[in-house]
Formats: sequence, C-alpha cells, structure tokens
Amino acid sequence: MTDIIYFDHAATTPLSKEVLNEMMPYLTENYGNASSVYSIGRKAREAVESARAKVAAAIGSKDKEIYFTAGGSESDNAIIKGVARSRRDKGNHIITTNIEHPAVLETCRQLEKDGFEVTYLPVDSNGIISLDDLKAAIRPTTILITVMFANNEVGSIQPIAEIGAIAKENKILFHTDAVQAVGNLRIDVKAMNIDLLSMSAHKFYGPKGVGAMYIRTGVVIDKLITGGHQERSRRAGTENVAGIVGMGKAIELAYEKLDENTAKISALKAHYLEQVEKRVPHIRINSQMENCLAGTANVSFKYIEGESLLFMLDMKGICASSGSACTSGSLDPSHVLLAIGVPVEIAHGSLRISIGKNNTKEQIDYLVDALCEVVEKLRKMSPLYEDFLNGKISF
Ligand SMILES: *Cc1c(COP(=O)(O)O)cnc(C)c1O
Repeated sequence: MTDIIYFDHAATTPLSKEVLNEMMPYLTENYGNASSVYSIGRKAREAVESARAKVAAAIGSKDKEIYFTAGGSESDNAIIKGVARSRRDKGNHIITTNIEHPAVLETCRQLEKDGFEVTYLPVDSNGIISLDDLKAAIRPTTILITVMFANNEVGSIQPIAEIGAIAKENKILFHTDAVQAVGNLRIDVKAMNIDLLSMSAHKFYGPKGVGAMYIRTGVVIDKLITGGHQERSRRAGTENVAGIVGMGKAIELAYEKLDENTAKISALKAHYLEQVEKRVPHIRINSQMENCLAGTANVSFKYIEGESLLFMLDMKGICASSGSACTSGSLDPSHVLLAIGVPVEIAHGSLRISIGKNNTKEQIDYLVDALCEVVEKLRKMSPLYEDFLNGKISF
C-alpha cells in the first residue's frame, strides 16, 4: 500500500507526538476529577490551569477569559446563542457573512426562526467583506457582529482589526470564529478589539473534541451547557483534562514554530499553484497568496466533478477535500465558492488542498502529477468536456 499523503489540514490535523506524550499521564495515572480536592484531582486542576495560561498567551487574553469547550462548533453555538439570549431586550439583529462555517450559519438560521434578524454580508471575489457594507448593515438593534477570522474553504482572511474597531465604535459585541486562524496566524484579541472568539484544538495538531472560547472580561452571555460549576459556571461538565492539556501543548508548539512553518507552507502553496496552472488547462484558482491562509489552496478543474476527482486521488493515497468536509457527500455546490462568484458548473469541480507543516515539495509534485493524469482521464469521460471541445459550451 502506498503511504497516505495528507493534504486536508483544514479538516483536521494529525495529533502531534509531543502533544500525545503530554496528554498520556492524564489518560492513565492522573485520572482525577479537576474539581476534587485530593492530590490526583489537584494535579488535574493544575494541568487545566496551566493549559489555560498557554491558550490565553497565544491570543493575548487574560487566563480567566478562556473557557474550555468540546470544540469549535460548541464554542460558536455557545457564543452566538448566548449573546442572542442575553441581549434580546437590547435588539434582535445579528450581522454575519455568507461564507461562515455551518456552525455559525446554521446557528444564525436557527435564531432567525426564533425571531432574530440576520444580515449575511456578501464577499468579493477574494472572499473578503467590505467594511462599507458592514457599516451600512448596522442598525440600532444590532447586538452582535460575527465574522470568521479565516475561511475554511478558500482561506481568505478578513480585516479583523478593522471590523473590531467598527464594532467597538458602535458598541456592538464582536465575535470571530477563529478556528482556522488559531495556530496559523498571529492574534491579539485586545489590539483587534475582539470580544468573543472560538477555537478548536484539532485544527492545530491537538486532540479532537476540545476547544475554547475567549470571552472578554465584562461580557456576560447566557450559558449553552447548564449544570455544575465548572469553567467558573460558564460551561458545565467535568473537564476533558487530557484534551485540555493537549490543547495547551499544541497551541504553545504552534506559536513557537509559527514563522518557520508559515514560510515553509506558503512556499509549498506557491509551488502548487504555479505547477497546476502550468500543467493543467482549464482551471480557476479560488485562493490567493495575499490575505489568505498560507496552506489553503482551492482550485476548480472545469468540466469534471470534484467528487470523482477526490475518489481517484484517494486511490493514489492522496487525502484532499472537495470544499468542506461538512458538506461533502451533498451535491450542493459550496456556498463559499458561489459567494466569491464561482459559477455553479465550475464550483462542482473544485478541490481544496490544505498544506501542513509536515508536507514536502516531493508530495506536492506527486499531487500535481496525479492531477494531470486524473483530470485528463475524467475529462475524457465527461460529456461537459465533449460539449466544450465541440464549442457548445464554455465557462
Ligand atoms: C473546523 C471548523 C469549525 C468546527 O470545529 P469543530 O471543532 O470541528 O467542531 C468551525 N469553524 C471553522 C472555520 C472550522 O474550520
């Protein structure tokens, strides 16, 4: 069997060995409940607090502004629903974008059913919102602006500090889903005027099922998970001690090596884009090098289906994505690609690769060779491509 070549780091990342080693004691001998007073409980508590300090340091917050959760989706839900419920008497309007992750989009849609009004800001062809659109969307009833830091499908990075300044000026809470950004970009919640932020450990070589919310001191929101007094009564449930410890270690490692990893990953992406453009005809590049995550490269291959492409790459040991893992399996084209202006027909043939710190130039070359072969093979079987060759269609 060929080795797996993994190009899907935006979906999840492998758990780093160093992180696992750090977690092991809390999966074995130090199994105490972090709320218990005896020694193994106290050890668990200390480990949780030390991880909290690492997470806080990574984004420039205070330790006590970090609350652990079960991941990015929970953090998004808890924050958006929590703000909506606690501020209902102040207004019912929320501003977001039309390229958010489903954890934000579906939460907003659910709130619409409960009487909230949501503005979904459009984005330009680079996947970035307009600050003028944002200002124009603000109403006296606006209680929350929720704009993702970096997009999971095309990688676009929003002008977060500018959005934070606008939110602050208008006294509106600002939340950012930073699940793709934490571990990949420098973040300073104070300088960027971020009030609320979501993150998830498995996107930066930490374990799955653990995440965190940053909630600025002074911001009070309703709780999503009610019960015991864990996380200073803001998120009930016995702490996932090993997961939290892993998250702390992973975020520390990510920022220690950030510049080095970013430079390497960015060079690999540039090489990939240059090579596919040179060697595969009829493509459309949907991810930029500027204002974009270093490792995310979304490319549409015209006249073929992304799903067949993925399947054939998988047979060559290559793991990639047709857009977002959450929507693959559905035949709807990606809402993000449509939002940046990719025509439906072209959106169907899209491939997202997301490069990680352990990928190599040789792997990129193997991928590009595979794409040349597979795309040609699929086009030979594609009625759309035949129509294109006969001059019947062109897009
Ligand atoms: C992965 C992801 C999520 C969901 O995080 P989970 O920890 O998998 O629940 C939310 N938002 C974005 C932008 C993501 O990439």
